[in-house]
Amino acid sequence: MSTDKTLTPRLVKKLWLAFIILIVVIGASYIFITGYFDNKHSEATIQKINASLANHLIEEKFQDASPFLVDGSVNKALFGDLMHDMMAVNRSIEVYLTDKSGHILYSVVLDHSADSDVKSVSTAPIKQFIAAKGEKYILGDNPRNPEEKKIFSAAPYNIEGKEGYIYIILAGQELQQVSDTLIGRYYSNLGIGASLLAILFAGIVGFISIWFLTKNLRLMTGTVRRFQEGDLEARIENPKNSDIEVFANTFNEMADTIVGNLDKMKSVDQLRRELIANVSHDLRTPLAILKGYIETMQMKKDSLTDTEKQEYLQITYDNADKLSKLINQLFEYSKLEAEQITPVKEPFSITELSHDLIAKFNVLAQQKEIDLHLNNAQENCMVFADIGLVERALQNLLENALKYTPPKGVVVLSIKQNNDQVEINIRDTGTGIPLSEQPFIFDRYKQVDSSIKKQGHGLGLAIVKKIMDLHDTTITVLSKPKEGSSFIFKLPAYHV
Ligand code: ADP
Repeated sequence: MSTDKTLTPRLVKKLWLAFIILIVVIGASYIFITGYFDNKHSEATIQKINASLANHLIEEKFQDASPFLVDGSVNKALFGDLMHDMMAVNRSIEVYLTDKSGHILYSVVLDHSADSDVKSVSTAPIKQFIAAKGEKYILGDNPRNPEEKKIFSAAPYNIEGKEGYIYIILAGQELQQVSDTLIGRYYSNLGIGASLLAILFAGIVGFISIWFLTKNLRLMTGTVRRFQEGDLEARIENPKNSDIEVFANTFNEMADTIVGNLDKMKSVDQLRRELIANVSHDLRTPLAILKGYIETMQMKKDSLTDTEKQEYLQITYDNADKLSKLINQLFEYSKLEAEQITPVKEPFSITELSHDLIAKFNVLAQQKEIDLHLNNAQENCMVFADIGLVERALQNLLENALKYTPPKGVVVLSIKQNNDQVEINIRDTGTGIPLSEQPFIFDRYKQVDSSIKKQGHGLGLAIVKKIMDLHDTTITVLSKPKEGSSFIFKLPAYHV
């Protein structure tokens, strides 16, 4: 049996021991119970067969000779002979002559010397026996041992004015002694036989039971081993049917978690590779421009006009600025990605924060002739969130809105409270985003398809999405090319 692969040898030993103990206990109980009832049964049989023995004695033997002498005393000679005859034929019986109230008048098995106690037996079972005509199993007193009850036969006599009973103990002392010596041997033989059988049965039953008990366990161990060896698809089938449903379910859940974590790790790894590849590409463009203009200025420093010099310097400055922004974004994004930032949530006024941001961006908006304003400015909405992160998200969204909206356009930040949530909407009348690009704008570095990727873009929306994730919320975009875009997200309201 392959239990050694499934169960530890200690557990197998314990199971065997349990089986042996179980079988021994059941066997011993069986022997005890059958022994007890067998004894009762044979006693009842003996009593029934010998029911008329006492009657027979009176009818046969006392017809011709009275058991009493003329002076009223017991005819011991006659009675003695009679009893010896009977007891010689059946050594298991003891015959007693009693008076009406159960006092023993004579018996050859008792000591009738003057100083011995006169024994007596209870007449109730005798009367019961006579009334039932020997059909019932009744136990009576044993004159030789008052503590003990014995099967008997009894019959009343009425001879020469004397009344009483002939009381015959059917399983007398001799039978008891013989039986006691035999029973010892019987039980020791039975004990050895039963023990051998118990061991044999324990072996067979134990083997079969352990095989059945460990059948599912073996299947489960096999599955766990397959998983350990790298088969990540390995799961315990029908856990409800297995003997250890909790274990099966726990293993399946654990395997799902491990596989999920592995997938997550793989995708994070993949994302990092793509990010590095894309970012290095994005860094190269402004760097190349910077280098190109600086070289041109070095070579043509004498022939360039002041206006040209100014223009070249502006271009180098813009590209250096772009580079620095991208590096900052990258730094911020990687910190969010590595989950190094934990939001510190607190109640704050999103209305006030929006006012401040609008004021900050208004200079840029005015330069671009864009109408930037806040809706519902009169209401003060409180939210429960990380103020720094929410400010960063709003900044990125406003920057984008201003960047992609042409002059004379409109950018509106609206705040609306609905019971437990505050909805924030940044709407612009800008270029809009084609439907095909919309699913990718929040994690564009995941995109491998170069037809979707654009050159020189930062990580603004990817950072916004990470901030939303940290607040267990989502951001949605509604946009139509040439009509404009709306970026909408919700934060939990804080009720003062
Ligand atoms: P960046 O703006 O630096 O390219 P973002 O992650 O902020 O990077 O934006 C990703 C892309 O989503 C942008 O390249 C742009 O195509 C699109 N986008 C974002 N916001 C807007 C907007 N308000 N209007 C139109 N397009 C937008």
